[in-house]
Amino acid sequence: MQNFSYHMHTNSFGIFDGRNTPKEMIEEAEKIGFIKIGISNHLAFHPNMPNQSQMFFSDFNKACDIYKRVIEDIRTASLNTKIDVKVGFEVDFFPSAQWCNLFEKIREEVKADYYISATHYLRDKSEKYIMNLYYMKKHPEIKISENDLTVYLNNYWSNIIESIKSGYFDFIAHLDVCKLFGYCLTPDWDERKWETIETLDKYNQPYELNTSGWTKIGEQHPHTWMIEELNKRNVPVIISDDAHSVNMLAQHFDKAENLLNSINYINRYNPKF
Ligand SMILES: [Zn+2]
Ligand SMILES: [Zn+2]
Repeated sequence: MQNFSYHMHTNSFGIFDGRNTPKEMIEEAEKIGFIKIGISNHLAFHPNMPNQSQMFFSDFNKACDIYKRVIEDIRTASLNTKIDVKVGFEVDFFPSAQWCNLFEKIREEVKADYYISATHYLRDKSEKYIMNLYYMKKHPEIKISENDLTVYLNNYWSNIIESIKSGYFDFIAHLDVCKLFGYCLTPDWDERKWETIETLDKYNQPYELNTSGWTKIGEQHPHTWMIEELNKRNVPVIISDDAHSVNMLAQHFDKAENLLNSINYINRYNPKF
């Protein structure tokens, strides 16, 4: 069984959405037999980012300051531990040149060990309208017209595809997290999913089998048929628990292994960063 995970969260400074400290996550990871881990809190920065959570930032300097402190916090917690601990971020990618330039500056400033791409937002083309999917779920008063929604969901898939092409990321998280919110479940969205598969193949971009979906909606990310197609193309896969607390570490890893073994998935991504 895969004995590591590079996608997990902490509650650093009470700002981020994990429920445990870095120390608690590291100790539990050691206890359950992980040989190495990566802690990847959210990096959700955009100059037009609405103020929907204390872990979303629109101010560049404030964001960099917090990210540097998060890294320091985790590195301090990992001193004298038995397992190797890396510090990364789960990054909400945006395709504009403006965002890419700022992200490159953040990377230079904070110097994390690795970056995962994830999309948790709906947005318009100009990136002026940005709406977090979790925030939206908690606020049913937010209304989006049918037409706008179709545009925004298309942008959701474009975001993932462009993040693969960007070359910024070590692996791509939960490709179809939109299904948690009931989106893109009908066959008319298959074309965008195929495009994602083909882009992952073309760029030989590792992606994750995210097990947290089994707890939330009874199905992992991405869909089994997508994993099968990605296996046919020999695209590297990594299992992620996306743990937000100590008891979620290695959640459903047995199920994930069974799924990958059942389709003879050979190309497993084992990070070397
Ligand atoms: Zn995520
Ligand atoms: Zn996550």
